[in-house]
Amino acid sequence: MRTAEIAKRFLNYFDKQGHLIVPSASLISPNPTTLFTIAGMVPFIPYLMGEQTPPRRRMASNQKCVRTLDIDEVGKTTRHGTFFQMLGNFSFGDYFKEEAIHFAYQLLTTPQDQGGWGFDKDKLWMTTFTDDDEARSMWKNEGVDPEHIQILGMEDNFWTTGGPGPGGPCSEIYVDRGPEFGVDGGPIADENRFIEIWDLVFENYLVDNVKSKTDLHIAGELAHKNIDTGAGLERVAYLLQGKQNIYETDEVYPVIEACEKITGIKYGTNNEADVKFRVVADHVRSALMIMSDGVRPSNAGRGYVLRRLIRRTVEAMRVLGYEDAVMPQLLPVSEAAMEPNYPELAETFKDVSEAAYGEEDAFRRTLSNGIEIFDMAVKKAKDQNADETKPAVVTGDTAFQLHDTYGFPIELTLEMAAEQGVKVDEAKFRELMNEQKSRARQDALKKRHNVDLSEYDDFKKTLEAPIVFEGYTEVSTRSR
Ligand code: ATP
Repeated sequence: MRTAEIAKRFLNYFDKQGHLIVPSASLISPNPTTLFTIAGMVPFIPYLMGEQTPPRRRMASNQKCVRTLDIDEVGKTTRHGTFFQMLGNFSFGDYFKEEAIHFAYQLLTTPQDQGGWGFDKDKLWMTTFTDDDEARSMWKNEGVDPEHIQILGMEDNFWTTGGPGPGGPCSEIYVDRGPEFGVDGGPIADENRFIEIWDLVFENYLVDNVKSKTDLHIAGELAHKNIDTGAGLERVAYLLQGKQNIYETDEVYPVIEACEKITGIKYGTNNEADVKFRVVADHVRSALMIMSDGVRPSNAGRGYVLRRLIRRTVEAMRVLGYEDAVMPQLLPVSEAAMEPNYPELAETFKDVSEAAYGEEDAFRRTLSNGIEIFDMAVKKAKDQNADETKPAVVTGDTAFQLHDTYGFPIELTLEMAAEQGVKVDEAKFRELMNEQKSRARQDALKKRHNVDLSEYDDFKKTLEAPIVFEGYTEVSTRSR
């Protein structure tokens, strides 16, 4: 089942359950404290908080999300993307726990030929909050094997806004990939074998005095109880499509295939190269989706996240041995893979691709200047660390030379070194920068002293003369 079809079935199902289906909001978060929309609930916060009246008390969406927090997991785990889609059904003071559990279980287990997702009941596992006997008995009533219902505490299965406000227990749904992927014992034993696909949050409490996730006070029950759920579309897709990870699903894999073609390296033959292929496929898609929502590369905020995604893509391909322009090869492939679910991508693609190609060109010009020095420094750092007793470090002098002579911003050296598993002596770099600044200041002073300033002497004298206050009509300077 294609990813777009999986999303369609979710929205159709919740439409039939009386939900208002709304399109995804922009990736540019409406919440000023986060750069991107990080979860399906973000556009609904005013309804969840009771600050605004929703157009309907049952709503559902397929929300585009970006989580930069997960960037280091990308390509290495089977389930983390920087861009992903979160399917969600929401109740604002309407239905509560029993229906939320019933809806989720029904969609998950209804056979595919009857419009559901058709997961095997024996492979589903649930986690529930310590005190939430209610949820446990509801899952059992749906037919879930009691052995497949596990218990977790505040840290994992209690949701709050991070401050005073609504909060409540949650229940997560996992799929068992089978013994070949890890140890037995359910999600609390192995989160790589048991993949979290859906989180149901039951907001029934008013919490206050939130010192930390585990140290808070429950002030009472909310009159207006909410349901907020989030299911990872890519995770559901990879499991239903019988793939090994989210990067091999129909919306992402075409970029991996394009990488294979242009590098001549077969995916699945070398673990290190595979991780890079997956990173590239993820980042190209994220860059596409972020730019389609209007962001352009820059040195701050969202623009900087985007710049890093493009740079990391180019750098990963370079390490794979591909030296030519990458984005013109891969961005159109990603766009074609995403278009069935996002036809609007076609409208902005010309602008988006021009900006992406321009960004890559500019980056390549910077790279071409200092890349040999950088590569040599990384090799030297790795060689010196051959026995792995000390961390491999690029010297501060090299980082300074790269900056001073070749125009490599230190952030770039740090990023590229990190991608190759090498550190940079940043303290020494800063020391050299400071020395350079004070040298420049002294030079400027010296230059000032060498210039003949005598022609300004008369003018200087007028400035040094006392200012005489002559009422509010005039201020004049008088020579002595
Ligand atoms: P995990 O612990 O596996 O990183 P999470 O607890 O951070 O997931 P939630 O915040 O509960 O996830 O998000 C709801 C759902 O969104 C998850 O059940 C998962 O299916 C999906 N999801 C979350 N983060 C990602 C990601 N980086 N890439 C793909 N899907 C994700």
